[in-house]
Amino acid sequence: MSLAFATEVGGLNRENEDFVGATPDAVVVLDGAGYPARLRTGCVHTVAWYTRMLGSSLLAMLTAGERPLAEVLAEGIKTVSSLHSSTCDLAHPGSPAATVLLLRRTTRSLDWLVLADSILVLDMNSTEEPMVVSDDRLADVTATLRTRLDALPNGSHEHEQERLASVEAQLEHRNRDGGYWVASTDPMAAEHSLTGSVPPDAVRAAALLSDGASRLVDCFELASWRCLLNILENDGPAELINQVRTAEHTDPHGARWPRGKAHDDATAVYWQL
Ligand SMILES: [Zn+2]
Repeated sequence: MSLAFATEVGGLNRENEDFVGATPDAVVVLDGAGYPARLRTGCVHTVAWYTRMLGSSLLAMLTAGERPLAEVLAEGIKTVSSLHSSTCDLAHPGSPAATVLLLRRTTRSLDWLVLADSILVLDMNSTEEPMVVSDDRLADVTATLRTRLDALPNGSHEHEQERLASVEAQLEHRNRDGGYWVASTDPMAAEHSLTGSVPPDAVRAAALLSDGASRLVDCFELASWRCLLNILENDGPAELINQVRTAEHTDPHGARWPRGKAHDDATAVYWQL
């Protein structure tokens, strides 16, 4: 077994809001959802605080037994809520939030949980084409909101204003049926995760990607999922992020690839099972 990861902040003077952590049998990747400073969130903590607290709680629980992953996530959300219920308004819809990827190997199965827009890619022993697990509900909500955003150049005042407006509009769909689900303060979100299992010997390797890293494939379309797995296997996770940054620098204003952020926090894990 070997496991490698790389993570890189999306911009200068910012905190990396992604979290990555692993044990010999489990990996956790979270991508924090930030909300505009002008939007009062009811929480005195940063998004990076939220992802670190949730990530470390989830890792601790994953080492402590083999409970279903949705139960683990619900418990993790409750634990973090208890850490700030006395200082913060947890009912506020703009409370810090995170996408979640969990992957755990037991003697009987390889189990996963995917919530919101981080991506799991499983390199199967039986098929050439990898299995890709993605939760598209957030993208579906965003697609209806971003037509105007995509027409504006990244880095412009208008783009930033429109991006903030789109983030605020997204909040109305957060953790609601018919909208999208993300880890925040409501443990119910865990029940809406995508979960699944395969026999442990069915998979030769797994990639766990925050959307800042998966964009080489699913936004820029510069590589296939198979090609991305080859980059991870041959050159490592840092090289994948290098290739993302190189592509972004060729299109700083989002003319070729319209996107919310010119550079996003990017995390890639490659686990050879
Ligand atoms: Zn708080």
